[in-house]
Amino acid sequence: MSRRQFLTRVGAGALGVALASPAVKAASERPIEWKMVTTWPKNFPGLGTGAENIARYINEMSNGRLKVKVYGAGELVPAFEVFDTVSKGTAQMGHGAAYYWKGKHAAAQFFASVPFGLTAQEMNAWLFYGGGLELWQELYAPFNLVPLPGGNTGVQMGGWFNREINSLEDLKGLKMRIPGLGGEVLTRAGGTSVNIPGGELFNALKNGTIDATEWVGPYNDLAFGLYKAARFYYYPGWQEPGSTMEAIINKAALVELPSDLQHIVLSACKLANADMLAEFTARNNAALRVLVKEHGVQLRRFPDDVLHALRELSTEVLNEVARNDAFARRVLESLTGFREQVRPWTDLSERAFLIARDGIQAGAG
Ligand code: CA
Repeated sequence: MSRRQFLTRVGAGALGVALASPAVKAASERPIEWKMVTTWPKNFPGLGTGAENIARYINEMSNGRLKVKVYGAGELVPAFEVFDTVSKGTAQMGHGAAYYWKGKHAAAQFFASVPFGLTAQEMNAWLFYGGGLELWQELYAPFNLVPLPGGNTGVQMGGWFNREINSLEDLKGLKMRIPGLGGEVLTRAGGTSVNIPGGELFNALKNGTIDATEWVGPYNDLAFGLYKAARFYYYPGWQEPGSTMEAIINKAALVELPSDLQHIVLSACKLANADMLAEFTARNNAALRVLVKEHGVQLRRFPDDVLHALRELSTEVLNEVARNDAFARRVLESLTGFREQVRPWTDLSERAFLIARDGIQAGAG
């Protein structure tokens, strides 16, 4: 896409304000200093470092005129206060995931990941070319926030379990950390979902506060040492097929910047969005080998009938969220409409190619 198109998409159009500068600062002036609060432990591989990358890109592209200091979860505010902190302008930027804010608005969850929803590639297509980002920015405007995709994990893992999941019965009574819509699905399957920040997962699983947890994938899960707290590592991550990480910017702080710095902030987020997916794709492979070969992790695929049941329950959950809120309905219709429209192409391209590459008969994979 052209630079002009990009800037329109990520900024000016949906901001509803011209990205013109109210006051162009002289180069000799002191650097502008921003704070970025995050939901991740400081420098946590992939996610925390993704936030650090945004800050670094902004510093580099602005030649030091805008400096962003990144705070890990709990350093300035706890993980789940990131949204309010940036909304109030106490920090100018935040980095996290939109499903953490379902208490602010039910529709927020749709901008992170939807169970059985879009892959990373499809999610980016919906956000940037399918109307998704405009809806996201509309949703956050009353909070004085401009949201942008700030990373993507790709397909996640289904999670860590201390017992095997052989049927839907095995999910009954299971207390699992699984945020957002996936958590609602688990509840409907008879389990109990809890949402706790990543930094607390290991202890919660180890001391039995929870029976299972999903987090991200091999790269991130290895970093938390989750293999030391549970044996069985399940796939696929039906609950998060391509999770978008969220960069949020305080709108008042953004429009106060000179226009070139506004564009730099927005561009840095888009760059980090693409970069994170590449990093995760590369590092998940290496981490998976370590988990299985060095730590004896037992990989398990969810049984087909469990996945089928979870898929049916997901549809119920999504429809209920949409029934209860008009804006959520608009977002869901946009997202599911896009999924149906993109599906034939995904089948003929990604799916057909992967089957062809691996020599698997169609239908056997
Ligand atoms: Ca997850």
